Amino acid sequence: MARIVMKFGGTSMAGTERIRVVAARVKREVDAGHEVAVVVSAMAGDTDRLVNFCREAAPLHDPKEYDVVVAAGEQITSGLLAITLQAMGVRARSWLGWQLPIRTSDAHSSARIEDIDTSGLIAAMSSGEVAVIPGFQGMTADDRVTTLGRGGSDTSAVAVAAAVKADRCDIYTDVDGVYTTDPRIVPRARKLAKVTYEEMLELASVGAKVLQTRSVGLAMKENVRIQVLSSFDDRDSADLPGTMIVGDDELGVEDMERQLITGIAHDKNEAKVTLTRVPDKPGAVASIFSPLAEASINVDMIIQNISHGTGSTDVTFTVPGAELARSLDLLGKAKEAIGYESLVHDTKVAKISVVGVGMRSHAGVASTMFSALAQRGINIQAITTSEIKVSVLIDEDETELAVRVLHTAYGLDAEVEAA
Ligand code: ASP
Ligand code: MG
Repeated sequence: MARIVMKFGGTSMAGTERIRVVAARVKREVDAGHEVAVVVSAMAGDTDRLVNFCREAAPLHDPKEYDVVVAAGEQITSGLLAITLQAMGVRARSWLGWQLPIRTSDAHSSARIEDIDTSGLIAAMSSGEVAVIPGFQGMTADDRVTTLGRGGSDTSAVAVAAAVKADRCDIYTDVDGVYTTDPRIVPRARKLAKVTYEEMLELASVGAKVLQTRSVGLAMKENVRIQVLSSFDDRDSADLPGTMIVGDDELGVEDMERQLITGIAHDKNEAKVTLTRVPDKPGAVASIFSPLAEASINVDMIIQNISHGTGSTDVTFTVPGAELARSLDLLGKAKEAIGYESLVHDTKVAKISVVGVGMRSHAGVASTMFSALAQRGINIQAITTSEIKVSVLIDEDETELAVRVLHTAYGLDAEVEAA
C-alpha cells in the first residue's frame, strides 16, 4: 500500500467524459489498496476565459478579486470529479483551498504556499476516502483567496505530496513524458526515463510545457518523486512509460549507461545588449549591472570583449526579452555614470543549452558543442557554463539547425524504427 498524489491537467479534465476517464484511473489506484489524494486543474481554456472576464470588467483590476474569479475553474472540476467518483462507488470528498486550508503568501496571482494543514486530509485518506483538491488556489493569513500563478496546479500537487509525505506524485498530462529536446524540431528526440531535478530545471524550455518550473524547485527541496505520465494512455500506472523526476542519488547503475548529455534546450526569449567603449577600470562593470540588479532584471550571459588599447572595452550580456525596454531605459539614464560610447541591442538571438549531470565527471562536453556548431558555420556570440550546463548564444535563425546538429553530435537521436 502506498500513499499517492495524482494530478490531472486541464486537457484531462476538459468535460464530463474525460473526467470519467480520470475517475476510472483514480478508482484503479484505490482498488489496488492505495491512499489517494487527487489535485486537479480547471478544464482546459476555462482559466483563460476567467482571466478575460476580469480584463473586460476593468483593465486595471484588484488582484484580490482577480484571484476570487480565476480560482473558480478548479472548484468546478474538483466537485465534478468527486461526484463522478461517488457515482462509481468510490468514497470521495472535495477539499477547497480554504477548507484544508492551504496557507499562502499574500502575493495575489502569484502566491507562494507557506503551509498546508494535513490533519483532516490524512484522516480522510487513511479512512479510504479519496481527497479531491483544486490546484492553483490557496488562502492568505487573513482568509482571502489566492492563486499560485499560471500552471500552478503542478506546484499544488507537489506541495500536497510533500505535506502528506506521499510515496509518489503522479502528474498526468497530455504529453507522455520529458524528451531529449523539442520533438517538433527533432522528430528523433527520445523520451527520457529519468531526469534529475537539476536537469529538469535547466531544461526549462523543453520541460516547462510539461511542468510548472516552480513545482520542480519545490520537489527538489522537499524530495518529492515526480512521475510524468500520459492521461491518454489506458495502461496501469505501473506500466506507463513516463518520465521520473528524481534526485541525483536515485540515478542507479543502469543510468550510468545514459548519454553524457541528457537534453538540449533552446530559448528565443533572450535579448543581447552591448555597451561599447566602457572605461577599462575597476568599478566600470559594477556601474552597469547595479542598476539592473536594483530593478530585479535577471542578467544571464556576460562577456567582456577585447580591449581597444585605449583603456576601453566592450561589454555584452543578455536579459529576458520582456525586460529589454526597461534595461535600455536604465542604461540610457546611467550613460554618464558608466561612461560608455554607444548602446546597441539585438533581439534576434537564441540561447542553446546542453544539459546533463554526466558533465560533472567528463571533460570535452563544451568542445564537442563548439566543433559541431563550427562545422555548420554557426557563429557563437556568447558562452556561459554551469556544473551541468553549457549554453551558447547564436543567431535566432539558426536555432533549429543548432538543436538538430547537437542532438546528433551527442548521440541522442533515437534509432529509426524498422519499417
Ligand atoms: N488552471 C490554472 C491555469 O490554467 C492552473 C493550472 O492548470 O495549473 O493556469
Ligand atoms: Mg500545466
